[in-house]
Amino acid sequence: MAPIGKECDFLVLGGGSGGLACARRASAMYGAKTIAIEVARLGGTCVNVGCVPKKITWSAATLQEQMHDSKAYGFSFKETAPFDWAAFKHKRDEYVKRLNGIYARNLNNDKVEFLHGLAEFVDQNTVKVTLDDKSEVEIKAKKILIAVGGYPTWPEVEGAEHGITSDGFFELEKQPKKVAIVGAGYIGIELAGMFNALGTETHLFIRHDTFLRTFDPMIQEKLVAEYERLGVIIHKQSSQSKLEDLGNGQKKLHYKDSNGEASDDFNTVLWAIGRTPDFRRLNLGVTKIDVNERNHIKVDEYQNTNVPHIYALGDACDRGFELTPVAIAAGRRLADRLFGGKADAKLEYHNIPSVVFSHPEVGSIGLTEPDARKEFGDENVKIYSASFTSMYYSMMEPDKKAPTSYKIICAGKDEKVVGLHIMGLGSGEMLQGFGVAIKMGATKADFDRCVAIHPTSAEELVTMK
Ligand SMILES: Cc1cc2nc3c(=O)[nH]c(=O)nc-3n(C[C@H](O)[C@H](O)[C@H](O)COP(=O)(O)OP(=O)(O)OC[C@H]3O[C@@H](n4cnc5c(N)ncnc54)[C@H](O)[C@@H]3O)c2cc1C
Repeated sequence: MAPIGKECDFLVLGGGSGGLACARRASAMYGAKTIAIEVARLGGTCVNVGCVPKKITWSAATLQEQMHDSKAYGFSFKETAPFDWAAFKHKRDEYVKRLNGIYARNLNNDKVEFLHGLAEFVDQNTVKVTLDDKSEVEIKAKKILIAVGGYPTWPEVEGAEHGITSDGFFELEKQPKKVAIVGAGYIGIELAGMFNALGTETHLFIRHDTFLRTFDPMIQEKLVAEYERLGVIIHKQSSQSKLEDLGNGQKKLHYKDSNGEASDDFNTVLWAIGRTPDFRRLNLGVTKIDVNERNHIKVDEYQNTNVPHIYALGDACDRGFELTPVAIAAGRRLADRLFGGKADAKLEYHNIPSVVFSHPEVGSIGLTEPDARKEFGDENVKIYSASFTSMYYSMMEPDKKAPTSYKIICAGKDEKVVGLHIMGLGSGEMLQGFGVAIKMGATKADFDRCVAIHPTSAEELVTMK
């Protein structure tokens, strides 16, 4: 049967954070005839296997920590309250399903035509969509956006398939008693923190001596020490050679770390070694679009690829910030430029704040200290830093106190703030406001002009000497 033919102004491949934001704005605000294609669940990585279920799990883990902490405030528990992982997971899934429905309704309200199916390029102007019932639609579009995101990378380790990735984390029906997480990026660190707080024996395998290695050295050093204090078993200088399935939900991981060669049994082994753009089924080759050495689509600052009417954004492109709000912001500005007459609309890819939902949280914006020194020279960089114990821990025994550490990086005579790195309770919520100030070009003197809010941890950021 010949495929059904369709035509549109704008075809969006991928119904995740960036694709949906761009499609909705193009259609609702500017009236472009827009079609969006999604092969899996609407909302993409963030809603289904990323930010949303992750943050909910982080909140559960944080509650568990607070229950422990509450004893120091005079509350008494005979034992730690048991955590019903299965019931929690079910409720979390239901919430995500509700979000999927909201996304579908939003597309409908904004008059974006939505097709659920797999998109594949036929040529530079044509995309074939295989719908759920296996029928095919061939769409010719004036402009095409590639927003297909990424998927977790699997390692080349014998038996790796007996492990899971972050996608599999969200499918776990039972809380593992003992878990191995391999990876030093924010996803591995967040998942390790949550497992550990919820009572799973957590082993973290990292290749070097620290994790979060793109973050400021202060964060790396302090958070590694804090994870060790919290009981995460960190295997430094490690590599893995083999994973065996022993049956009965047991896996044996063969590895090497700073103590030499060893093997250990785990209920779950989770690979968190990075993400790869998802061009597996897109037939991208026919478009002659340029990709970089890590297979990300090369785009300029306007999200243009080397093919004039094809654009890319989010985790599929090479701009470096794989975050939901980055994909959304780039998508909205692209719609403004392509259909809203705003020729200069583009996302500024610097001073983008980001948070790691570790235990405790980490917030970061701008340059790290080594990068600032490289860019401005040692003599033009001034560092303000503070490490202290938040008042929240004043009621606790010394071994139960988590550290708070802040660093402000300033450059030039006027001490413009070019980097801010914070670790401690509440850092996730705290960073957004400071992000606005830094985006506006705040100097250290501007920070200091703001009267402190007492008693908070954040007040340290406007009183640091
Ligand atoms: C565990 C985890 C936690 C995270 N936590 C955070 C966080 O706290 N904060 C944050 O900002 N970011 C977080 N992220 C990152 C964030 O989820 C991504 O940066 C964001 O989702 C990228 O959006 P996107 O639009 O580029 O791609 P996606 O959201 O991945 O959407 C791409 C969509 O394209 C679809 N697709 C792929 N190929 C095809 C095809 N051929 N045809 C049709 N459809 C296709 C996919 O099914 C997918 O739904 C997290 C990611 C993970 C994995």
